[in-house]
Amino acid sequence: MAIRIDGKKISQDIKDELKVKTEELKKEGISPCLAVIQVGNDPASTVYVGNKKKACAYIGIDSRAFELPAETTEEELLALIRDLNEDDSVHGILVQLPIPDHMDEKKVIHAISPLKDVDGFHPESVGALSIGEPGFVSCTPAGIIQLLKRTGISIDGKECVIVGRSNIVGKPMSMLLLKENGTVTVCHSHTKNLKEVCRRADILVAAIGKPKFFDESYVKDGAVVIDVGIHRGADNKLCGDVDYDSVEGKVSAITPVPGGVGPMTIAMLMNNCVESAVRMCKS
Ligand code: NDP
Repeated sequence: MAIRIDGKKISQDIKDELKVKTEELKKEGISPCLAVIQVGNDPASTVYVGNKKKACAYIGIDSRAFELPAETTEEELLALIRDLNEDDSVHGILVQLPIPDHMDEKKVIHAISPLKDVDGFHPESVGALSIGEPGFVSCTPAGIIQLLKRTGISIDGKECVIVGRSNIVGKPMSMLLLKENGTVTVCHSHTKNLKEVCRRADILVAAIGKPKFFDESYVKDGAVVIDVGIHRGADNKLCGDVDYDSVEGKVSAITPVPGGVGPMTIAMLMNNCVESAVRMCKS
């Protein structure tokens, strides 16, 4: 029977480890602090921001919330980011995406100091990852590496196929799997014979944003399947990019949706924030 990779438990373990680490840092006078900026009141963003604040409170990270009205100008947002970049008591800066259409998302991401870029979206962070230098790594793919490692799944020498090439999931995922000595293939909407390529995978990462797209015909016997997708079906239930019921009998391990990759993203954000405080205060 397939191992159900338990993202809920693994993310809780990481948060508990971070809680201990944060307590120790506080004894040394270091108090990790995350600034969270939300522009407008998109309901999904409000839920995400709320979850991040809750995780901070659990671990003992100070969270500073900036809830800006939707009419905020780009220059006002950039000025706030500049102030936070200069503020030594802030170790991580996060701008909840999406931001309103009148703002240039790229410009906003580029404005965050790479030293505080806990989302790992700044070009300098992405560049550092690709040449193996220290920097922040995008939280979802970083969480997937933790899921694999903490479930005892080796990546070394494995045939890894990622479907999806976004900047926040597919591309950084490919770099991280490569770093772990996987043999990596990245597929996208122009890939020919997708099924055949997926069936070569020892580790298949599905990140295309299409509900239950991958059924058992896309996986080989004994593969490990990581489902990044998250969708709410007509029945109001959550599902991923993988048809769990179809592939479960064929694979050796699989992440469920919910309770797989999802909870890891916030845990890794918290990890980046604590790491940032250590880097800024101890170097
Ligand atoms: P994007 O929409 O940015 O990227 C989707 C990628 O999938 C693109 O590279 C696209 O190819 C590729 N693609 C789409 N359709 C196909 C297809 N039929 N065959 C092959 N490739 C295809 O998505 P994200 O990476 O942002 O997110 C992917 C999924 O993961 C979404 O469901 C999202 O909600 C979820 N997600 C979950 C997170 C979590 O915390 N659990 C965090 C982030 C995302 P092309 O480049 O050619 O267009």
